[in-house]
Amino acid sequence: MSKAISQVPFAQNEPVNSYAPGSAEVKSLIDTYKKMYADSIDIPMVIGGKEVRTDNKVAIHPPHDHQHTVGTFHYGDMSHVEAAINAALAAKKQWNELGWEQRAAIFLKAADLIAGPYRDRINAATMIGQSKNVHQAEIDSACELIDFLRFNVEFMTEIYSEQPISDAGVWNRSEYRPLEGFCFAVTPFNFTAISANLPSCMAMMGNVVVWKPSDKQAYSAQVIMEVFKEAGLPDGVINMIFTDGAETAAKVLAHPEFAGLHFTGSTKVFQGMWKMIGDNIHNYRSYPRIVGETGGKDFVIAHPSADTQAVATALVRGAYEYQGQKCSAASRAYIPQSIWAEVKAAMEEQIATIKVGSVEDPSNFVNAVIDRNSFEKCKGYIDRAQAASDAQVVIGGKCDDSVGYFVYPTVIETTNPHYESIEQEIFGPILTVYVYEDSQWAETLELVDATSPYALTGSVFSQDRYAINEAYKALENAAGNFYINDKPTGAVVGQQPFGGSRASGTNDKAGSKMNLLRWVSARSVKETFVPAKDYKYPYLG
Ligand code: NAD
Repeated sequence: MSKAISQVPFAQNEPVNSYAPGSAEVKSLIDTYKKMYADSIDIPMVIGGKEVRTDNKVAIHPPHDHQHTVGTFHYGDMSHVEAAINAALAAKKQWNELGWEQRAAIFLKAADLIAGPYRDRINAATMIGQSKNVHQAEIDSACELIDFLRFNVEFMTEIYSEQPISDAGVWNRSEYRPLEGFCFAVTPFNFTAISANLPSCMAMMGNVVVWKPSDKQAYSAQVIMEVFKEAGLPDGVINMIFTDGAETAAKVLAHPEFAGLHFTGSTKVFQGMWKMIGDNIHNYRSYPRIVGETGGKDFVIAHPSADTQAVATALVRGAYEYQGQKCSAASRAYIPQSIWAEVKAAMEEQIATIKVGSVEDPSNFVNAVIDRNSFEKCKGYIDRAQAASDAQVVIGGKCDDSVGYFVYPTVIETTNPHYESIEQEIFGPILTVYVYEDSQWAETLELVDATSPYALTGSVFSQDRYAINEAYKALENAAGNFYINDKPTGAVVGQQPFGGSRASGTNDKAGSKMNLLRWVSARSVKETFVPAKDYKYPYLG
């Protein structure tokens, strides 16, 4: 065990590569992308450190070229879920006994591997499998993931350093034990960083994990496991399985040793799992920790004093980057009548220059949505708006799935503040705008607050400090991440801890100390140096 009170390297945000045209870094990334695109990858599950293959191989098609196959991943069944649980439990004792510096070193090494030799590979895998362009891949699978790993190490040491006071003759200590049993991480398709962070931050705090990534993120999930292995993560600490979500949840959540769920994905799935945990509550050894970051219907509200060019830019970036498939994407906007024409004209001008297409061409700002389901869902909203009496498509509306699942940046304008596309999470490049009378600012703030069950992110644009303050107060519970004169996307680890409340999640703020605290169970230790030898207190005379 440790014979030093070590300090970890000071965490700093990883600088974002620009990938400017002609730069060496863009050439290197696109070369790696092309090579991986032409190769055929075979992705196993990883259970107890062993690569596990099955007869059930699933083909991986890039969303921007759905007829192309880049490889396959091996799909498992309930026997693999069971094996993953057993492997995690078998690894538990040794992992728990390892000093925290050793755990820290593994994840700091993983961060450096991603920052260096694996940067192109993990970015290219994210580009291929999830259709992120060079910039979107870089800020997610390289920078955000590196930040999660480095900042979490620092937060871990802050937690361990938090110690109680001690009276004379006594030494009090807090020990932050991992949870008893195993943890379960279930991750979404849209962020490679999230999918790595959910299992790794639990493991960092001494837990063992069964991790079920999204099938749609299998390619970059495989690279994450390669990195963890090279960084020295012992076998069985994180076990990656590709299995049916609902069946896996039913099996894992019924296990007596299940200790914690770390989920990111849609609200309905999370609610289903919470219910299962409730149904199994009598079976568990401990009360499980439940952390879930879920859906959003993120807003932008502009005041009549807002800078119209800044509003338009925030809407274009906020709604269309990564095809609107960020949980934080701007998807409903409330613009006052007096500035709408200007905002709309500025948006039209910007959107006219946006190129849509494959991620292989870095000048494409918008790429493909994740799969056919998502494409059909987006198209459905656009088709219905085109036919609606209380909504119209005022910009974009084109959908083309001949090569990839391309949905063009679209603006729906509605006169009905409860129109379907302004209330429901679409998860595509579709923004719905409601134009309000300038005199209705206060009422519109109430509308923004009450329209959606979600409360993830939101922005206010105004040059008037009184108006900003009104919005700040009126929307106190409408967003877990609130932006003033900025787009509602792009939270940075260590700077804007991320998460929402209401139907958007438990708001345990991924990439913060708050989140890590959920994966430990504190033990208070009191040691008395000279114990009492007589039961009588002085008041007894
Ligand atoms: P999803 O809910 O479809 O899938 C998430 C994960 O759950 C996947 O691994 C999937 O296989 C699994 N799953 C699916 N059905 C399941 C079931 N019945 N039981 C157990 N597991 C099941 O979500 P997605 O499409 O991958 O991601 C998009 C969603 O994630 C959006 O709703 C988005 O808002 C949300 N999201 C939220 C945040 C946040 O921080 N709040 C971040 C990213 C994504």
